[in-house]
Amino acid sequence: MDPGVQNHGVPATVSVHAISAGSLTLPERFFVHPADPEARKTVPSLSFLIQHMNPSTSKITRIVFDLGIRRQISAYSPEIQAHAQTRQPLTTAPDVISSLAKGGLKESDIDYVLISHVHWDHLGMPSDFKASKFGVGAGALDLLSGRTKLTNGSHSYFEAGILPPSRTFELPDPLQNDSESTPSYPRPEMFCEAWKPFHAFPDTMDIFSDGSCYVVSAPGHLPGHINMLCRISSHPLKYVLLAGDACHDIRILTGERDIATWSDERLPHVTCCIHASVQEAEKTIETMRKVQRDGLDGGEVEIVFAHDVDWAAKSLKEGRFWPGHL
Ligand SMILES: [Zn+2]
Repeated sequence: MDPGVQNHGVPATVSVHAISAGSLTLPERFFVHPADPEARKTVPSLSFLIQHMNPSTSKITRIVFDLGIRRQISAYSPEIQAHAQTRQPLTTAPDVISSLAKGGLKESDIDYVLISHVHWDHLGMPSDFKASKFGVGAGALDLLSGRTKLTNGSHSYFEAGILPPSRTFELPDPLQNDSESTPSYPRPEMFCEAWKPFHAFPDTMDIFSDGSCYVVSAPGHLPGHINMLCRISSHPLKYVLLAGDACHDIRILTGERDIATWSDERLPHVTCCIHASVQEAEKTIETMRKVQRDGLDGGEVEIVFAHDVDWAAKSLKEGRFWPGHL
């Protein structure tokens, strides 16, 4: 399929392609309540390729959203390697680079790498991308540098210096005009759009200024957590929300389960949770329920979480992985 096309008043679209980027195993008790204390599920850590074509210049812009799991676990910091042991069995192949190659793309074809949030299973191997610009949500750089510290569980370890400072920009905080976060590389023009509400989403950024692709602020899971809302079809109108780790189990979205909390003997007096803010995460999920129920401009909205194993299995059968498309 041709990437985004905008002609004769037809709404512009982007093409979205699922990318295999490794898998990990999640113990149910850390994610949902009530949980089966023994249950563990091996799930993918999905990445996505988004392609947009400018109708007047035919220029194609390619974004990779998330990089999945690093192909060498030994290349993570010792703390993250220890945490990764709790997520075994874990697979690292194919990674983003070899998945992109299946459709003939190289790292040099990727203009932007946007990271939903800076947890290890979404950051992959940034050094594979030698010229792409990296974009993260507000607060993500302070997590990486260690300026912000979280104590909500052993998953909250970060690697300083993992993103190239000369090619990494941070989106502004939608709640604050003058963010005092770690200075970053100047934002590319398309990411300098103002945050604006779009239907039930309070803060979205229309990055191609044609309504085909929005960065969506999705607070709760981790500071700077962002999603991508992509219009993939104009007739019938259809959107996909790439929802990162806003939710790890579809039963939370449907209301059959609650978000889990737990205690860890290494972190006394702390209630651990997979989300940095349960209240914010609940609010973000509620917005998704509303959008899924009401649609957008009369179009359907498909919500895809980074670790949705059932979605991935079905989509693999349906050819929605690159070089196929959603
Ligand atoms: Zn994750």
